[in-house]
Amino acid sequence: MSDVRVRFAPSPTGELHIGGARTALFNYLFARNTGGTFVLRIDDTDLERSRTDYIDKLIDSLKWLGLNWDEGPYYQSKRLEEHSREAERLLAEKKAYRCYCSVESLADGRTAAREDSKAYLYPGTCRNLTVDEEEAYQKEGRSPVVRLITPDYGETVVQDEIRGAVTFDHTDLDDLIIMKSNGHPTYNFASIVDDLQMGITHVIRAEEHLSNTPRQQLCAVALGYTLPRFAHVPMILAPDRSKLSKRHGATSVEEFYAEGHLPEALINYMALLGWSPGDDEEVLSIDKMVSRFSLQKVNKTAAIYDVNKLAWMNSLYIRGYALDKLADAALPFFEKKELVKSPLSETESDYYKKVIALVRERSRTLVELAEGASYFYSDQFTYEEKGVKKQFLKEKTAEYLRRAAEGLRSIESFNHDSIESLYRAISEELGVSAGKLIHPTRLAITGCTVGPGFFEIMALLGREKTVERMEKAAELIESEAFSRE
Ligand code: GLU
Repeated sequence: MSDVRVRFAPSPTGELHIGGARTALFNYLFARNTGGTFVLRIDDTDLERSRTDYIDKLIDSLKWLGLNWDEGPYYQSKRLEEHSREAERLLAEKKAYRCYCSVESLADGRTAAREDSKAYLYPGTCRNLTVDEEEAYQKEGRSPVVRLITPDYGETVVQDEIRGAVTFDHTDLDDLIIMKSNGHPTYNFASIVDDLQMGITHVIRAEEHLSNTPRQQLCAVALGYTLPRFAHVPMILAPDRSKLSKRHGATSVEEFYAEGHLPEALINYMALLGWSPGDDEEVLSIDKMVSRFSLQKVNKTAAIYDVNKLAWMNSLYIRGYALDKLADAALPFFEKKELVKSPLSETESDYYKKVIALVRERSRTLVELAEGASYFYSDQFTYEEKGVKKQFLKEKTAEYLRRAAEGLRSIESFNHDSIESLYRAISEELGVSAGKLIHPTRLAITGCTVGPGFFEIMALLGREKTVERMEKAAELIESEAFSRE
């Protein structure tokens, strides 16, 4: 194992979003590529917004994606003592101070800054309090925050692995609050203390944290640790370059699962959101991604979320999956539609797999796969309207259906080839094209105008069901059940 240590540090305040999952993936790929260690840390210090059910969901989502971690999960909330100890050390070393300014007393400064259209910066009022002044405040019962002394001049340079040097002027930074008045650390302090103490060598995270990095670097320097390297991965935006939200489709890993995506497809899709292996290759196994991954090949510019590309990717994986694996993945979707009920008997399982093998070619998701398979399990379908007009309402359709059904009843063995020869023979006998027989038959037995191989469907459905459905359609046509509207 190399010395590389990376972490994924989600806050359990919601479901795992595509942005978070992509950050986890890049950390995972980097760790595996470098032979390093992938740590999972749950940043659960926001007590009001963190929820244990979100932690469970986060873990389930990461496992489903196959992003297995080597260490953790560690819980930031259990490390309060370490955070306090480090803050005390900074106080003792006079690199931090207690600030007793009340919220109200800071409000005036904020209002003034707002009126000047400037960002508010704490003026350092409590930087040089005397012991007596501090005592007096404490007697008043004020609970102080702890602030890190930030140099008034100069700059902090973040050497970003993706963006290069990003410079932050100290005149834009005030004395950062590292401990709140309730004795809890702020995000910036807890995060960098954990990273340093956990020996994280590379902090790979979302671009939105770039502005926090100079502050965290200043903390690390004050604490006397070697800096980790930082890499800020680009944002994921909607096609119109707005912030990604629900109206752009599924955005959480749970939703992607519920829509019937395969984890490998989602992984492959997410890998390309901001990273490119360097050639035009787009469909890559996780092993290939691992061997090709580097931070240098991660883009600086925002990635655009494209549902159609994900759907295309998913359909490729649905086609390429080993049949047994696809059958396992699709089972909950078939059960939800009440097509099957597990445990499946051997015969049921055999039929189920044959159905999947046929339908998967045209399915972009497992939901579509189950939908596309439903006529194999039930004849309670409605006929596609445009098909009814085009096929059932044509003259002689009922007659053709009856003639073909009759033929199907009498052929000796009922399989792909025998059905095909029969259809050919009947169409010759009637002097019509095979399509005239095939199209209405497809509609009669599946309710659809398009679908998998026609003769395969019939062979799998079996003689009884096929013929029954054809006769039922003929009867409906004859009784003029379909309106010509
Ligand atoms: N808990 C933070 C988040 O979810 C972690 C950010 C970081 O990686 O430092 O945004």
